[in-house]
Amino acid sequence: MKAKSPEAPLTQLKGVGARVQERLSRLGLERIEDLLLHLPLRYQDRTRLTPLGAVRPHTEALVQGRVEYAQVVQRKRRAFLVRIADGTGCLTLRFFHFGAALQNRLSQGQTLRLFGEVRPGPAGLEMVHPEYRLIGASEMPQVPVESTLTPVYPSTEGIGQAVLRRLIEQALHEYEIEDIIPLDQLPPTLRYGLKEALELVHAPPPEADLAALTGGRHPAQQRLAFEELLAHQLSLMRLRHRLRALQSPALQNDGTLFRQFISALPFTLTLAQQRVIDEIFRDMARPTPMMRLVQGDVGSGKTIVALAACLHTIASGYQAALMAPTELLAEQHYRNAGKWLQPLGVHIAWLSGKQKKSERDKQLAALADGSAQLAIGTHALFQEQVRFHNLALVGIDEQHRFGVHQRLALRDKANAANMQAHQLVMTATPIPRTLAMTTYADLDYSAIDELPAGRRPVTTVAIADDRRSEVIARLRSAIAAGRQAYWVCTLIEESEALQCEAAESTHALLRDALPDVRLGMVHGRMKTADKEAVMHAFKQGDIDLLVATTVIEVGVDVPSATLMIIENAERLGLAQLHQLRGRIGRGTTDSSCVLLYRPPLGEIAKRRLQALRETHDGFEIARLDLEIRGPGEFLGTRQTGLAKLRVADLVRDADLVAAARKAAGMLLEQDSRLCDALIRRWLGGAERYAEV
Ligand code: ADP
Ligand code: MG
Repeated sequence: MKAKSPEAPLTQLKGVGARVQERLSRLGLERIEDLLLHLPLRYQDRTRLTPLGAVRPHTEALVQGRVEYAQVVQRKRRAFLVRIADGTGCLTLRFFHFGAALQNRLSQGQTLRLFGEVRPGPAGLEMVHPEYRLIGASEMPQVPVESTLTPVYPSTEGIGQAVLRRLIEQALHEYEIEDIIPLDQLPPTLRYGLKEALELVHAPPPEADLAALTGGRHPAQQRLAFEELLAHQLSLMRLRHRLRALQSPALQNDGTLFRQFISALPFTLTLAQQRVIDEIFRDMARPTPMMRLVQGDVGSGKTIVALAACLHTIASGYQAALMAPTELLAEQHYRNAGKWLQPLGVHIAWLSGKQKKSERDKQLAALADGSAQLAIGTHALFQEQVRFHNLALVGIDEQHRFGVHQRLALRDKANAANMQAHQLVMTATPIPRTLAMTTYADLDYSAIDELPAGRRPVTTVAIADDRRSEVIARLRSAIAAGRQAYWVCTLIEESEALQCEAAESTHALLRDALPDVRLGMVHGRMKTADKEAVMHAFKQGDIDLLVATTVIEVGVDVPSATLMIIENAERLGLAQLHQLRGRIGRGTTDSSCVLLYRPPLGEIAKRRLQALRETHDGFEIARLDLEIRGPGEFLGTRQTGLAKLRVADLVRDADLVAAARKAAGMLLEQDSRLCDALIRRWLGGAERYAEV
């Protein structure tokens, strides 16, 4: 007979009917295997009895004792108090919810076995609503303790711990879960068989290292984390191989246009920009799709690099598309491209969601017949009706604002003639290496790790909201001295409408407070043409103070602006604050940033604002952000497009990522069935990249 397959649905287990199945599936559990890989969050130690004289506050303990007396008391709140003793000491049990039944059961002379957290109380140590069991009325009965540590699982409404424990125990006994990875492929310290690792993790022996288990650092857990990371790496690498097998136009030209472009720029490229441009040109000269991520801190000059790639494509006789996440940024790219590429004879089409139909049709026609060589726009570029004549490069700016799927959708635009467009994505989000390896394993990676010469760090201060009038006074004198400033209105809700309202009322307030100042405003609800006019005026120096919502967060480039006030700074994430602040300090004069906050500051907000005052290094900020928020929030599911990790933690297990990546490279060549099996086990139906 065939061994029972752990890929079977959970309904194969005793006690799993439709209702339980539905609840388990809310936890992401569909197959027996999923359940086995559903690991405990923490453990309780019910393997030894602690004498009452030895219990310590703020620990969980298994204790036992005889009820000395029990009574209902009425203090602030009615409570049922039970005093137990065991000859070494005593303990109070406190119940706020109780009925006659409980009172009857926990009566004098009974012996109780209890588990709970010990806390200091008004009259010595106590447990509030402990788990209890009557074990008799005799002196001190011998009732066995648990033989393993007790797992506590992530759960959901309607599924208690007892149910999960029982089902997992059953699955461990009845199903054969095979080792897929040969033992010798595991890191030397993690050479556990899978079954052994799972047994240890679900039912650790009393002597297991509880601290290591709680921290997720026990070798058995690490063994599982490694396997999971390996499966993810395999899945991404496989996608990458599949893409590399496709064809793209090999782009070549004599470089004349590029030289003209460079010599017309008002500055020389940094070495980092040159290096990255070289990498890109080399990639695009191959007949397989480039897939390159360019990471560069705010202000490192990614736009030029993107435009260089576009120009190289166009000079080779093909079309390029450059996409930005916001209208404002797309408009700015459009203007830059107009300024730098139009004189070289490049025809540019502009696509935005807010365009008139007649205008849009004109642009679409130019892209379809090839008379426009460059398309610039927002996500409007993805849309179905957009057809290209011979698209060979897709550039995506501030990629972290888009999902993986959107990125892939645009690339497929070139798919018509069985050709893939080259792909260049740019991001200012400095991604710690381990995350980059997991999130962008399908991409090559370049870093613009140098800022243009002459940049000055931005002086950053945090000021409580109630000193706003001082800030306004300082702003007045700075503007009188010829400086330009942003006043950024933020709200915690991602509601654009509310943000715009806030901007309007701040605008009104500042207009009264600063009657001599030339004031402007941009927010997401304004017409494209109006926004553009305001940005233009700000750039020209015709506006001194620009009240803005976070629409200016990404990409906006007005080097003459040197002052920024950010409202509600305590509510924003580090990365977002860093991005916003990156709008200033772009020229060669000193800049300052004021973070207005509403006291009192929470612990996390305090750390964020402090980090921002102390450093400008995007990588350092990303590292801190990751530490404060954890990787899930750091990247956002929108960005990763990856299935969630079950066991591994990208921060804790950072060192495993590199090992998993290496092993994945080897396995992929050696044994493709093994790779299939691993991917299926860990990613199941979630291998979202598979069909790309
Ligand atoms: P990013 O998109 O990386 O945040 P931008 O591309 O907007 O940065 O560039 C920031 C500013 O620096 C722009 O005003 C740009 O013209 C300017 N810039 C870009 N490269 C250089 C350079 N090599 N030297 C001086 N200024 C540069
Ligand atoms: Mg940019």
